[in-house]
Amino acid sequence: MGEHRMLIDGKLVDAESGAEFDNINPATEEVLGTTTDASKADMERAVEAARRAFDTTDWGTNRELRKQSLAQLQAAIEKEQEELRAELVAEVGCPMLITYGPQLDAPLREALSWPASMIDEYEWERPLGPKDSMGVGYQTERYVWKEPVGVVGVIVPWNFPMEIILNKLGPVLAMGNTCVLKPAPDTPWNATRLGRLIAEHTDIPPGVVNIVPSSDHLVGEVLSTSPDVDMVAFTGSTVTGKAIMTAAAATLKPVFLELGGKSVNLFLEDANLEASLPHAVTSCMHGGQGCAIPSRILVPRSRYAEAVELVKAGFDGWSYGDPTDLSNMQGPQISKKQQERVLGYIEKGKAEGARVVTGGGVPTHLPKGFYVEPTLFADVENDMTIAQEEIFGPVLVMIPFEDDDDAVRIANASTYGLSGAVSSGDLDRAKAVARRIRTGTLGINGGVWYGADAPFGGYKGSGIGRQCGIEGLDVFTETKTVGWPAH
Ligand code: NAD
Repeated sequence: MGEHRMLIDGKLVDAESGAEFDNINPATEEVLGTTTDASKADMERAVEAARRAFDTTDWGTNRELRKQSLAQLQAAIEKEQEELRAELVAEVGCPMLITYGPQLDAPLREALSWPASMIDEYEWERPLGPKDSMGVGYQTERYVWKEPVGVVGVIVPWNFPMEIILNKLGPVLAMGNTCVLKPAPDTPWNATRLGRLIAEHTDIPPGVVNIVPSSDHLVGEVLSTSPDVDMVAFTGSTVTGKAIMTAAAATLKPVFLELGGKSVNLFLEDANLEASLPHAVTSCMHGGQGCAIPSRILVPRSRYAEAVELVKAGFDGWSYGDPTDLSNMQGPQISKKQQERVLGYIEKGKAEGARVVTGGGVPTHLPKGFYVEPTLFADVENDMTIAQEEIFGPVLVMIPFEDDDDAVRIANASTYGLSGAVSSGDLDRAKAVARRIRTGTLGINGGVWYGADAPFGGYKGSGIGRQCGIEGLDVFTETKTVGWPAH
């Protein structure tokens, strides 16, 4: 049983109404337990607490306290790492294997500690030098000071919940902000556990972090509209990102948006297709529920038929099912609703004339759980719905291209621009193509860009701003420019 309570103003509490909602295991469809169900009034109390903590404590200026608090939080999470791992597998339905990488262990190694280590190194003050700015013979010393933004509303999705929470909280707290975090209703316990650890094992002052779960998506709207929230940091779908930006406009809040993607896995004609294409199936990892997963496979038209067979061979050797089984890289979709949404896209693909090479439905050998068969579509045109919209399922599409220019054109013919991969036998050729793709991150010839020090985010409809790296610290700061008389 996970942590039922939320964290408001340093206290672990239930919703004022006493309401609660079920947490469902998507692999078994069983109810794991319940979580307290916050209302807008509860959310408003959390915002008040975060405001008070920012305005009346020294959190924003006390760097030693912030370093110590982040180290305590790191230690507290590590102490419960194995319970957290099992809980993530149960509530997210993510394969256990992935918790040893991006779902838990990889971010836990650095998402808090890297920003904490940057507290001393960050350029909090930048001298501009003396200047007679007005041209009247009056010299002033001028400086740029970086300061916390204030109260940050943090809204996260369910697919990699802990990874996203840690990569938001680390920079938010390191830069001296306070926050209210709203987890997705499908995966509340990793967040409420964090709330308990903060309350019981750290010196983080009351109100600096508030964690407010709710079954009602719109409880999160308070964070976009409240005049007491200075900024919203959101990860989720592009549709919700637009709603948040619209709602935040009334109070002119800066919004930091990590949104969806429809990234390419591009194999230039000199790439080693035999060696690399069977691995394209790994994009079905975690049921394809990853924003940066490359779900459009681009291959040379001259080798299209052969390429389809090579990708299919990877699908034939792919094992999926029970997420607690370490041999599976794909578990269920998060919910019945998501399962039906993915199946709807598969039907749409068939109706628009794409060919199902393998998969295409619900696996009959898995009677319980929200599973979808790993599905490969060939004969796909880039303007088809399945090539344009984010399916967030184990569904890959194969699109042919004529030459490098055509490949770049197809890669960029998307409203998204989050991530992707380019492979070529010639690194320089791969780099040249990579420079032309309008996307926030790219793996070149199998390279991995990920890390707490590596900015991550999207071009175009994939978002605004960057998470992680120096850019991901800057985003949680305000800039104040000051001057005083030079002597
Ligand atoms: P979602 O947009 O439906 O929900 C995300 C969060 O927003 C949830 O906590 C939800 O309760 C909340 N929310 C919904 N409506 C809201 C509103 N009007 N105001 C405030 N909060 C609101 O997304 P999801 O289905 O939970 O997650 C899947 C999506 O997230 C995919 O599109 C995926 O690509 C994206 N994603 C992006 C990244 C990234 O870093 N770019 C990472 C992971 C997931």
